[in-house]
Amino acid sequence: MNPPHGTSARYQQHIKDGERACKPCKAAAADYLRKWRKRTGGIHGRASAKARSRALIQLKDLHADEFEALFLDQLRAVDQEREPST
Ligand SMILES: [Zn+2]
Repeated sequence: MNPPHGTSARYQQHIKDGERACKPCKAAAADYLRKWRKRTGGIHGRASAKARSRALIQLKDLHADEFEALFLDQLRAVDQEREPST
């Protein structure tokens, strides 16, 4: 059973299902993040690094093609930084 709309749990469900989150769920997720930042002092720290890393893996799975394209772009950029063409 899905959690009710207007909760950050349902927001996650929207994303997992590949849907665009509805307004109440988006607002709930933003509110949760705002409170979390206030409680924990923001994006620094081990919990945040762990969460960010997990989220990036999920993002990669959800948008595999876009991720691949971005990855190749960055690969080319890094290559050029290493071996500047004259
Ligand atoms: Zn919703």
